[in-house]
Amino acid sequence: MTQTENKPEVNDTPLVPIEKIVSLCKRRGFVYPNSEIYGGVSGIYDFGPMGVELRNNIRRYWWWSMVQNHDNVLGIEGAIITHPRVWEASGHVENFVDKLVDCKKCKRRFRIDHLEPENLEQHKCPVCGGELTTEPRVFNLLMETYLGVVEGDRMKTYLRGEACQDIYLDYDNVLKSSRVQVPFGICQIGKAFRNEVTPGNFLFRQREFEQWDLQFFVHPDEMQKWFDYWKEFRYQWYLSILNHKDRIRFREHAPDELAHYAKQAYDIEYQTILGWQEWEGIHWRQDWDLSRHSQYSGQDLSYTDPNTKERYIPWIVETSGGVDRTFLNLLLDAYEEEPDPAGKEPRTVLRLNPMLAPVKVAVLPLQKNKEELVTTAKDIHKKLQRLMVSQYDDVQNIGRRYRRQDEIGTPYCVTIDFQTLDDQTVTIRERDSMTQQRIAISELPMYLLERVSFK
Ligand code: ATP
Repeated sequence: MTQTENKPEVNDTPLVPIEKIVSLCKRRGFVYPNSEIYGGVSGIYDFGPMGVELRNNIRRYWWWSMVQNHDNVLGIEGAIITHPRVWEASGHVENFVDKLVDCKKCKRRFRIDHLEPENLEQHKCPVCGGELTTEPRVFNLLMETYLGVVEGDRMKTYLRGEACQDIYLDYDNVLKSSRVQVPFGICQIGKAFRNEVTPGNFLFRQREFEQWDLQFFVHPDEMQKWFDYWKEFRYQWYLSILNHKDRIRFREHAPDELAHYAKQAYDIEYQTILGWQEWEGIHWRQDWDLSRHSQYSGQDLSYTDPNTKERYIPWIVETSGGVDRTFLNLLLDAYEEEPDPAGKEPRTVLRLNPMLAPVKVAVLPLQKNKEELVTTAKDIHKKLQRLMVSQYDDVQNIGRRYRRQDEIGTPYCVTIDFQTLDDQTVTIRERDSMTQQRIAISELPMYLLERVSFK
């Protein structure tokens, strides 16, 4: 896994306002509001050309670290719609609720688990100081849908409220089809849907979003060992992609927050301008999920150890995080406006880790009207394109083109100038330090691959 090499020294820059990221995302094609021409839908977004590249890289890096680099972890991709009994067994039909109170004065609505204790006790609105309603209203977050077309014969079910249920449903199939043995894990990345009553803060709380989960199945005697292993592994994983390493922390759940089967639980939190907020949860799930699905489905989901013949329901360590919160936090972490020494417009730069940056290299002929420069540049671009995302750009002066690439986080710009035509070398400019060096065209692919590959 990549640690901190190749990372820029980042000064203690101030926390970035979310609006700056929203504006950059729209301007440069990372994120658009969904159905914008119809006025949009709260809590639902689309990802543009830059956004989809960044998301794919984030997903691939997670998969690479979790599945590809662990012999005892396998992947699946389950369906979004499942049998409705799944959500009864999981407890979501009964318990997946938000409790809300309203302010009688400003009419704002608050989740009671997000209110400070004093506001809750004094029924005082944290925004305007008005009186809050005393009896919370309860909303179920599951999104309903119907299967079938004949009225009266339609089956009500749900778009999955969390992606991980598919892993429990496929646990036995994976065991039987893959020759794995406990301890082993199953990973999945997939969409989840929640009728969030208070969507907001851009990608932080959406109604359609994407989760990544590991469910790691263990013998009960080994639960603590594996819980500690994954807790540390996930923390290091996030550290490996952050510049501001002081903006991440663990928050241990208090005893009254823990589910009845959990001995402990931790959130990995990230600090933004909105405060410290959950990014990923590390959960001690014991045998709760497999036992419930055994009970509700009538299928025995216990495991027999092939060596000792001991039969038991495996316990589970869960790590559950979000692609969207990773996307947002990484942009907040990477965004910087660097003052220009000549007093011109500040340089906006996304200091994204090169292995996650949407575009890896931009190929720029020094001048657009010199055919030999353009031909050579296009030729280099075509060759690099087979290996990584490369952009060819010959519009406006070279300074402006560098700025455009800085703003989307492109780590390297390659410039083709007149010397190139003589000695087959190019300049390569590094985004963070802005230093330039000359390098032979033949060395370019290896130079770049070494710096943009997962480590
Ligand atoms: P919260 O307390 O913020 O509502 P949660 O504890 O309900 O979150 P989980 O059910 O544990 O969240 O989901 C696991 C992960 O999925 C979260 O850590 C987060 O990264 C992501 N996630 C959950 N809800 C949303 C959402 N509405 N929008 C975007 N990501 C989400």
